[in-house]
Parts: sequence; C-alpha cells; structure tokens
Amino acid sequence: MTPFQRLSARILGKKDDLIALTQDLIRIPTLNPPGENYREICGYLADRLARSGFEVQLIRAEGTPGDSRKYPRWNVVARREATTSGECVHFNSHIDVVEIGQGWTRDPFGGALEDGRIYGRGSCDMKGGLAASIIAAEAFVEEFQNFSGAIEISGTADEETGGYGGVAYLAEKKHFSHVDHVIIPEPLHKDRICLGHRGVWWAEIETHGEIAHGSMPFLGDCAVRHMGAVLSEMEKTLFPALAKKHTQMPVVPDGAKNSTMNINSLHGGQAEPEEGFTGLPSAVVPDRARMIIDRRYLIEETEDEVRTEVTDILDKLTRERENFRYDLHEMWSVTPTMTAPDAPVVTSVEKAIREVLGKDAEHVVSPGTYDQKHIDRIGKLKNCIAYGPGLLELAHKPDEYVGVDDMLDSALVMGHTLIDLLHPTDLPA
Ligand SMILES: [Zn+2]
Repeated sequence: MTPFQRLSARILGKKDDLIALTQDLIRIPTLNPPGENYREICGYLADRLARSGFEVQLIRAEGTPGDSRKYPRWNVVARREATTSGECVHFNSHIDVVEIGQGWTRDPFGGALEDGRIYGRGSCDMKGGLAASIIAAEAFVEEFQNFSGAIEISGTADEETGGYGGVAYLAEKKHFSHVDHVIIPEPLHKDRICLGHRGVWWAEIETHGEIAHGSMPFLGDCAVRHMGAVLSEMEKTLFPALAKKHTQMPVVPDGAKNSTMNINSLHGGQAEPEEGFTGLPSAVVPDRARMIIDRRYLIEETEDEVRTEVTDILDKLTRERENFRYDLHEMWSVTPTMTAPDAPVVTSVEKAIREVLGKDAEHVVSPGTYDQKHIDRIGKLKNCIAYGPGLLELAHKPDEYVGVDDMLDSALVMGHTLIDLLHPTDLPA
C-alpha cells in the first residue's frame, strides 16, 4: 500500500470518532459575543490532543477587546514535533460561534446527526473543519512514526468579532514565526481553495445641525436632512462608481467581484422609544445624525482611494450646501490579502484534492474577511489558505449543518497534504 492508502484507511476508520468529536464541540456553546465557554472548549481540545501526543499550551489573550474575568479570551495551541527537522504545518480554527437567531427546527447546541449531517450552531462554521483537521493530524501521527517537521493545531477565540483575542494575539506573540504553512479549515467547500479575502473599511459619518422647536425648523438646522444629502450624493455618484470596479481576484459569489458598500446603520433625531412606551415624540429638530458604512474593497484599490471617495462627497457638500458640517470616524480596516496561486501550501492542497476527489480545485477569494488577515499582516506569513468542509452559504444560518462525508473527504485532503509536506519515511507495513 502507498502511504496515502494507509493513511486513508486509518482516517476512514475514524468516522465515528469524527462524528462524536464534532458533536462534542457543538455541545460546548461558545457564543461570541460575549465569548462564552472558551476555557471549556480549549480544555477539551487540550486534553484530547495531549492524549494524542501533542504538546499543548493554553494561552489567554489578556487585555484584548472583550477579555474579562467573566469572559476570558482563551486559545489553545497544540504541537507535535517530528524527530527530524522540517517544515511546520499549522491548522488554525476559530472556536467561537455567532448568536443562534430565529428559525431553528433543531437544538442549536444538540449536535443531532440526521441523514449524514450534523446540525448545530458552529457545525459548518467551523467546528466541523476543526474536527476534520484533528482527525487528519491524529491519523497521520499514528500511522507514521517518522516524518520531518511539525504539525500544529490551534483553536482560537473571537474570529467572529475581529480575531483580536485569538489569531491576532498569537501572531503578535510570534506564534507563527516558526510556521511554514497555514491551513484555516473555514467552510469553503471541500473542493475549493480560498486564497484570501477582500479589504474592509468601516467608518461612521456624522452630520451636525442645530436643535430647535419642531414647529419652527427654520430656527434650527436639521442634521437628518444633511445626512439625506449625503445619501443622495452616494446614490448618484458612489454606488454607480463602485459597480464599475471589477477585480481580477476570484471572489465568490460573482456579485462580490465588484466593489461594494453596505449602509450598516442610520441614526438621527430622537432615539427609538422603549418598548411599551405609547407617548408621542417631542417636537425637536435633530442636531445630529450618524451613519455607519461597511465598504468592502478590492486588491486593485487602496484604502486611501476608498477613504477619498467618501471624503470627496463630504467635502463637495461642505462647499455646496449651507451649514453642512461633518465628522468622519474611521472604525476598522483590513487590507485585502491573496496568497499566490502557486504558493507551496496551495500547490500541495491542490494535489491532494486531485488525488482524493479526482478533480481540479477551484481557487476562490472570500467576499468577507477572516483570520488570514492577521497571519498575513501581523504574522508576516503569506503561505496561508482557507480550506475546509461545509457550505459557506450555511454559515450563521438557522439549522446550520455539516456533512459527515464532506468532513471525511476534507480530512483525507488534509492528510494527503501532510504526507506531501512532512515526508513520512516509514516503510509500508
Ligand atoms: Zn468562520
């Protein structure tokens, strides 16, 4: 038998273990925000990987956003080193899940297995991917005593809220300095390799007015009307301009191959009344309106250009519109990132997909951002991809699930990749 045939048999023999592991992970509700049960899930992973011969470390990202005594930001890093030196392959998965939301017909934290699918919040995004990488790594170290380099598995906090208490923290502490290849098992489909993601620029625009009695608005200045002028200028010039910008990045779905902007929220005038309040609002001219914009940009654009497109509109209105005054608060930004299609980790996973699934891998780029940004920017590591089981469309939805066969196929691809990169030398049994 070839090394890959041996490893495949071992991975396929672990199907029940893979199911049970995925269910266990789903049954630890790691809702974020606020960041619940990180210690529990990291402890669970640490115990398991220690039993499999990994050296484990629990790391709290103290002082990062959201970290508190009640909700500490825990992370786990497990490492299994070979006797011969070589390259280090790191699988990184986030352990947090988003809120449940409405519309579930199954227990979101039950991990029910039905018709080959495991249901639960985080099953697809991305506890199924985490479980697949653990099974692949465990099978590999059981099957091959002699290989070169090291395998690492990390479970990290807060990806859903920016990753500052997770991958960003580990990258700042130089945890990726000795890593050569990173695979993030996000749910991008088992036959696709995700090379990176678009950029992000979030900003809050505030317009100012002057408060007055609502019966005499001419004595004040309505901030909401000023904001209306901003919106109408955006409709006239900005949105059409964005629709004309196309990227060469293989972003999926197709709509995200253009530059996009979402109006995240709009607030002006009196706050929404508390529930149950039946009175009328008071007659007041709003002196302040705020709008949060969520701009996703392409690798062909720069953050400067993205900012200037917005400030150009605001400055034009300042010149042309009486009493128009604004503030712009930049809230968050992420530079687009894309690993080269011929980077070593891409080539290796591509080969594995061909071997396991008998087809050519599709290269894609994610419309939204994920932890690769920190590995690239802070960790200075370009050789990073997202590859994992599950359908991206199911992420964050009710009745989220992951397919058991998809997880097994992904585990086979990951195992094949480990053989390719870590060169096991054991003789066939
Ligand atoms: Zn995710």
